[in-house]
Amino acid sequence: MNKLEKVEYIIIHHTERNNDFPLFVKLRHIYLRGWENIGYHYLIGNTRPFTRNGQIYHGRPEEFEGAHILGYNQNSIGICLIGNFDKKHPSKEQFESLFSLVHRKMEQFRVPVENVRGHREFPEVRKSCPGKLIDMDYIRTSLTQREIPKIPSLVN
Ligand SMILES: [Zn+2]
Repeated sequence: MNKLEKVEYIIIHHTERNNDFPLFVKLRHIYLRGWENIGYHYLIGNTRPFTRNGQIYHGRPEEFEGAHILGYNQNSIGICLIGNFDKKHPSKEQFESLFSLVHRKMEQFRVPVENVRGHREFPEVRKSCPGKLIDMDYIRTSLTQREIPKIPSLVN
C-alpha cells in the first residue's frame, strides 16, 4: 500500500447495504476486489444489529492511501456510512458521528469545506454514492456554520 502523502479531500461514501458490518466490508474488499486491506479509512455504524449505531470504526490506517475512488486515492481520506441512503436517511447518531469525524479531519489536514465531497461529485462517477438522500451542499453549509445538520427524518 502506498503512503498517503497529502490529504486534500475528504470523501463520503455509503456501503449500499443496510445489513453490513466492517469486517464484511473488509472481506469483500480483500477477497472480491483483491485489495490488501479495506478500502475506506473509516466506517460509521448504523441502526442494524450488526454494528453499533453511530460507532466510528477504523478501516485502513490513514497513513496509507485508501481504495475508494478512482483518481483521488492519493490525496484523500475515505469515510463510509454503513447503509443504503438511496432509500433511507442515516440515523441521527450516524449523522452526528459523520459530522464530528469530518470536522476533526478538516482541522487535522487543513481541508477546506469545498473539498468535503460525496463520491458522486467527482468526474465520471455514475453512482449516487453516498446516496440520493445525502445532500452534500447541505452538509457543507452546516460544516461552515459548525452546526450538526438536521436531517429530514429527524424533523418532527
Ligand atoms: Zn462511494
